[in-house]
Amino acid sequence: MNLFGYTLDGLRDYFSGIGENPAKAGILFDAVYKRGVRDFAELGFSERVTSRLCGDLSLELPKITEKLESADAAKLLLELSDGELIETVLMRQRFGNCVCVSTQVGCNMGCAFCQSGFMKKRRDLATEEIVGQVLAISSAFDCKIDGVSVMGIGEPFDNFQSVSDFIAIISHDKGLAVGRRHVTVSTCGIVPRIYDYADLPAPCSLAISLHAPNDALRSRLMPINKKYPIADVLDAAEYYSNKTKHRVALEYIMLSGVNDSDEHARELAKIIAGRDFYVNLIPYNSTDSEFTKSDAARLAEFCGVLKDGGVIATKRREFGADLKAACGQLRADRSAKSK
Ligand code: SAH
Repeated sequence: MNLFGYTLDGLRDYFSGIGENPAKAGILFDAVYKRGVRDFAELGFSERVTSRLCGDLSLELPKITEKLESADAAKLLLELSDGELIETVLMRQRFGNCVCVSTQVGCNMGCAFCQSGFMKKRRDLATEEIVGQVLAISSAFDCKIDGVSVMGIGEPFDNFQSVSDFIAIISHDKGLAVGRRHVTVSTCGIVPRIYDYADLPAPCSLAISLHAPNDALRSRLMPINKKYPIADVLDAAEYYSNKTKHRVALEYIMLSGVNDSDEHARELAKIIAGRDFYVNLIPYNSTDSEFTKSDAARLAEFCGVLKDGGVIATKRREFGADLKAACGQLRADRSAKSK
């Protein structure tokens, strides 16, 4: 087993299972995540325990095969143990360094505007491969991580167990201790998993990719909507916000002539009225799809109509366009190599 796949509770069970005091789990967790220890001999455990750890637990991280950096962003291309390639992005936000992690190799959700959706899912990532992205980027660029967006390639709620273990590890005080409000999981709207997420012992923030104010349009953009229509998604998100007292972000990509009219904005304001949500307007990054981005004036108008309708709305800052590391741009250019 890979050490970075263990939650603290999992590690306690491991120590109990080998007849050792489970409190050793906290010592190990703290050493690995807080002090960056990568050698079991430095933990001060007996020789018997140390050699047992060496035999049972690997400390392998994804291999960095390419490293790109610009003023406000950086990107790593990582190779996993079976040769699959994934991308991880670092954004230098005002509040600190935020990593955007991938959760699957490819994605099966098939959203019409998204580059990742053009590449079918090849497999889920294991917990250690998601944790490994954060550790790899923090060591590659020698920086502390202040926030994590689970918004890279893949649908996190189509890989729920690994993602929930991942957030438990990175947000734990003895782990990387990233503040839970600064860890955001973004989903296309897999309704039963939104309830599961709300019910986790320590849920983090939630973003929902909405992108349309009515089912006819959303089903055209996002096939998942045929299974989980807007009303059910919003009810699940409201359950989450009531339970956790965290405001939910509704992500809305502005697609020129498709979902960006004043009427769409009014319709959007109406369906979310009275709920603890805010809208995050996302400038579209062009891909091989048929869509183009709304211009800045249209985005500002749309935002104004939302605000007039009583909605809190923000515009997402754009990062990493020059690195092909912007939202939805993480792509499979190089995946041919691994086929
Ligand atoms: N599967 C998850 C998370 C990955 S996508 C989800 O659907 O939320 C992260 C965000 O980027 C989503 O809101 C997604 O709709 C958006 N996105 C996808 N392609 C994009 C593009 N070309 N430009 C801007 N945002 C994009």
